[in-house]
Amino acid sequence: MFDQLKQQPADKILALMQSFREDPRDDKIDLGVGVYRDAEGVTPVMRAVKAAEARILEQQTTKAYTGLAGEPGYAKALTGLILGADVAPSRIAAVATPGGTGAIRQGFELIRMASPDARVWISAPTWPNHPSILKYLGMPFSEYRYFDDAARDVDFAGMMEDLSQVAEGDVVLLHGCCHNPTGANLTLGQWQSVADLLLEKRAIPFIDIAYQGFGDGLESDAAGTRLIATQLPQALIAASCSKNFGIYRERTGLLIALSSDDAMQKLAQGNLAYLNRQNFSFPPDHGARVVMTILDDPELRADWKAELEEMRAGMLALREQLADELRQRSNSDRFDFIARHRGMFSRLGATPEQVEAMRRDSGIYMVGDSRLNIAGLNARTVPILAQAIIDAGV
Ligand code: PMP
Repeated sequence: MFDQLKQQPADKILALMQSFREDPRDDKIDLGVGVYRDAEGVTPVMRAVKAAEARILEQQTTKAYTGLAGEPGYAKALTGLILGADVAPSRIAAVATPGGTGAIRQGFELIRMASPDARVWISAPTWPNHPSILKYLGMPFSEYRYFDDAARDVDFAGMMEDLSQVAEGDVVLLHGCCHNPTGANLTLGQWQSVADLLLEKRAIPFIDIAYQGFGDGLESDAAGTRLIATQLPQALIAASCSKNFGIYRERTGLLIALSSDDAMQKLAQGNLAYLNRQNFSFPPDHGARVVMTILDDPELRADWKAELEEMRAGMLALREQLADELRQRSNSDRFDFIARHRGMFSRLGATPEQVEAMRRDSGIYMVGDSRLNIAGLNARTVPILAQAIIDAGV
């Protein structure tokens, strides 16, 4: 039987991690995988997470199953963080999922169950798991233009032109903030234009929000999502706690379906629970409980926010430093987009040959499309990267 299987394409980022590990050079720099690192190159367990875990260890009296939707307090707390107080609870259906990836996968499955012919529109480029899962599920999808390679900014005219092809009932996948892989994001005015278009087209927005707090701050990073949530009758939101709580391996995500009325909300909630049941029954609980404990406790919440803010400020400072170094070395402002981008990633705009040259000559590892992880840098390595970018002729 297993001899009938076909070889599956390797995950490019995981393959890159492997070649980084095998590189014997001491001064190699990993800007590949999308994991936050501090100046020492460590992905820390956040202080509030440690404290919440200690509390759970001490106070938890059972590990019996939760509900199919997970712990309701988790959904409530995380929904509050994402949506604020603007969306009526009667519109919200939500289930805990294994990571943001689990939420995206189940969101797609919910779409397929409700409307098998609905086309999902994804940005070009996007996080490669989006098309990969859609392909696996056999769902129709199309790309819309998103990134202007020359300006290294959002190609908003191209995006709106492509989205004018969206049909009634189609789904448009948007990154809530900190677009992966480009780092280029919509302004609030542009979010409004997208909301108006989707409303007119009677299309469904699906927001993937995996980096809230990594861009302009917890509130600003959720502004586009809130605008969509309050103005569109229906929406899907897939949230990940991997990055902003630093609990990558705990697999902590949430899938939210917003409905326009009570009956639809109940139907959505029942179907979300059903999907959990078919796929894995009960969702993982530990990470969800940690998140809930932090968000519901004023002291832990304040400490978590402070540490997240330090991380965000650190990434912004690295962006500024890299843009400055490149301004001096290139005698131009053509790399200023690095300071304008937000989140962990920027797409540099280097050719695959230039990416390869930086790897070969300077031991700098970035993804082949020249996505670099800003959090893989520190004040010492920024000038090294800047010089390598110039030497490679980017
Ligand atoms: N969406 C995007 C855009 C991401 O970059 C990621 C993480 N790489 C995720 C979702 C999901 O992350 P996880 O499954 O680890 O929570």
